[in-house]
Amino acid sequence: EKFCRDMPKIELHAHLNGSVSEQTIEKLLKRRAATSSSSSEQHGEAVATGCNIKPGNDLSLDDCFKKFSIIHQLCSDDESVYIITKDVIQEFAADNVKYLELRTGPKCNSTSNMTKSSYLKSVLQAIRDATTVKTSEIIVKLIISIDRAKPLQEAWENLQLAKQFRNFDVGREDMGDVIVGLDLSGHPSTTDVEKFIPVLQAARESSFKLTIHVSEIAGREDECRKLISLRPHRLGHATNLSTHPNQCIDIIQKILIQNIPLEICLTSNLMTSTIADLSSHHLQYWLDKKHQCIICTDDKGMFSTSLSKEFILASTTFNLSKEEVWSMSRNAVEHIFSSEHVKEQLRTMFATFICD
Ligand code: 5GP
Repeated sequence: EKFCRDMPKIELHAHLNGSVSEQTIEKLLKRRAATSSSSSEQHGEAVATGCNIKPGNDLSLDDCFKKFSIIHQLCSDDESVYIITKDVIQEFAADNVKYLELRTGPKCNSTSNMTKSSYLKSVLQAIRDATTVKTSEIIVKLIISIDRAKPLQEAWENLQLAKQFRNFDVGREDMGDVIVGLDLSGHPSTTDVEKFIPVLQAARESSFKLTIHVSEIAGREDECRKLISLRPHRLGHATNLSTHPNQCIDIIQKILIQNIPLEICLTSNLMTSTIADLSSHHLQYWLDKKHQCIICTDDKGMFSTSLSKEFILASTTFNLSKEEVWSMSRNAVEHIFSSEHVKEQLRTMFATFICD
């Protein structure tokens, strides 16, 4: 356990609003109670109860998406977006995460006058403030999420915002652009996902990297084929490919040949019941094929986890040695969306860790 905590780590799949911890939720509720009437205090209590997801709860994907909308209600003004971003970064840093690619979909709220643009500015200002303090040892980059459940127009808007804010000054000019990529996520049961392909293609043409959630639920092979034809730089989850290898062999081959790394989120897959149990998790299938897998948290607040806990879970479930765990952590450097310069800095930093 201590080894996984002490080891320097890279987090590449963390949704901002899903990463908000219980402590931050309490902070937001107090702040809300101090500024509003009793009816919204009751609302706050409902929100708090709704957010209270504990390990072991038998949740479905639908339940989780309901919880996301509750958290979104709580983070519906610029200041709360700033607070959650800063807290999430500090929590990852305290877990010895040295490089974090946070992802979020910009949101607006007419009651608080929050616009998508001001939402993004709040996130970027929090990244600047959390990473430019002397004690901070974490590099933070941003991925803009496209929600597959939202209209196409929103996806185009998000790409526009990503372009507009890509080199927002977060005080680390030597580290290159702060916005490094786009992701496609959101409720996986929504259909008609092909409509987002032109946006993702345009993002690629603008030199953004792509990471795409695929195959979280069964029966989405056709959709997965189309999305993989975009040659994304990483894939999220890919849960159901190895459970139906006959139907998916061409997809599996493509992933292997194109060497597309997989972002693996063990606790999330377990708690959303997209896998039956940890021992049947697809990580083993891909490790057996010596494919690049990156251990990630997905929604550390929602699932009460941390990156260290995910590494501990991987090592105990799949009997990984310290050397294997460390090599997974170190290899993640090669799959970050930042420049070679940033990779080199991380390689140097990781080289000082003694794996014994
Ligand atoms: P946000 O973009 O609001 O900061 O982060 C929360 C959002 O991330 C959710 O509303 C959802 O769209 C997306 N998300 C978080 N976890 C998952 C997941 O496991 N699967 C999918 N498909 N989307 C997710």
